Amino acid sequence: MRVASRVRSLAESSTLAAAARARALAAEGRPVLSLTAGEPDFTTPANIVEAAIAGLRAGLTHYAPTAGTPDARAAIASKLRRENGLACEASGVTITVGAKHALHLAMECLVEPGDEVLLPTPAWVSYDPLIRLAGGTVVEVPGEASRGYLVTAEDLERAITPRTRVLVLNSPSNPTGTMHSPDSIREIAAMLAGHPEITVVSDEIYEKLVYPEIDPAASFLSIGSCPEVADRTITINGMSKAFAMTGWRIGYAAAAGEGTEAIRAMIRLQGQMTNGIPTFLMPAIVEALERSADAVESMRKAFARRAALVAQRLAAMPGLQAPTPTCAFYAFTDLTAILGRTSPGGRLIEDGDGFAAALLEEALVGVVSGRDFGGPGRTAARFSFACGDDHLVEAFDRLETFLDGLR
Ligand code: PMP
Ligand code: GLU
Repeated sequence: MRVASRVRSLAESSTLAAAARARALAAEGRPVLSLTAGEPDFTTPANIVEAAIAGLRAGLTHYAPTAGTPDARAAIASKLRRENGLACEASGVTITVGAKHALHLAMECLVEPGDEVLLPTPAWVSYDPLIRLAGGTVVEVPGEASRGYLVTAEDLERAITPRTRVLVLNSPSNPTGTMHSPDSIREIAAMLAGHPEITVVSDEIYEKLVYPEIDPAASFLSIGSCPEVADRTITINGMSKAFAMTGWRIGYAAAAGEGTEAIRAMIRLQGQMTNGIPTFLMPAIVEALERSADAVESMRKAFARRAALVAQRLAAMPGLQAPTPTCAFYAFTDLTAILGRTSPGGRLIEDGDGFAAALLEEALVGVVSGRDFGGPGRTAARFSFACGDDHLVEAFDRLETFLDGLR
């Protein structure tokens, strides 16, 4: 059977593939420690679970409106006004099958074939394929390791051409564990004032996972709150990370003012693709956004502790250079210092792929090769610390032994 070329050329999600490889070895009985997927180890807070169960018992078993129930959309709009400073109404919100689906809808609705999309790299692995599926041309704007892989407004402006239509921002960043300061976000918005044809897609799924304990300057600002781009920012977020709800598959996209037109287009497309998410999840969204702040804060504190642990362990490993993670749950390590060396099991380490494969097979520690994150990622690897502290300590012990054994 012939598979359409646009999908034939589509890469598998390498984060999911790395997680699956680690799981497959574990299923064979090997004691694998996985630092692959960015998935909180916590279970969803009980009040959120109860809200969904109560929804099922109350008979919320029929289709919901495509964009979500009025209550759930209003809860999201109110959260975005209260916490993020967006002038967003319920009509400017659509609830999607995870943030991934929201990003897919956004790209399909914003990008014409041949349009250029600016993507600061390293960037999460799914942006590039989703932009290409929509017919867009990815224009990478690589960040330098020495600046925490963060691009500046000037870097972005240099990459703009008459064909640029979209800028994808993901701060806090997967995979780098670094984030733009509020001033840096304001500078980007001010720069965009001179480029009214560009829409911003701001993926804010890690907004709650920020660690001022590690860097007192770490602080989050939604670019959609900046007046220069308030009407042309699509804000993407979801429940997966902050609320430990990856398996629930709940995300959303939101916009204010004229940007609402793009949300209406996304809802039309969604109505043909998936319709709404399960109806009994709608009360759980309200419960999460309005009555779960303490649970989110206690998970955030645990991630902050793990970020500090990872930073401390990496600092003692001169072969791996990473910016200190101050947000999200990733450390992105540059491997240049160990390239060309041979692993304890005799594998030549030439890039992130080789490093990740050797570490998994020899030390039974799963990480994600940096290659598919683009930019400087080919010679890097991503470590997720969304796992228990003991698991993390043992994985880093194994990593240290592996590095000590390099020849
Ligand atoms: N954006 C980023 C930056 C991510 O790391 C992820 C990871 N899952 C997603 C979006 C998608 O999240 P989900 O579909 O689980 O909401
Ligand atoms: N976003 C997470 C990660 O980067 C989950 C897997 C995925 O959807 O990519 O590991």
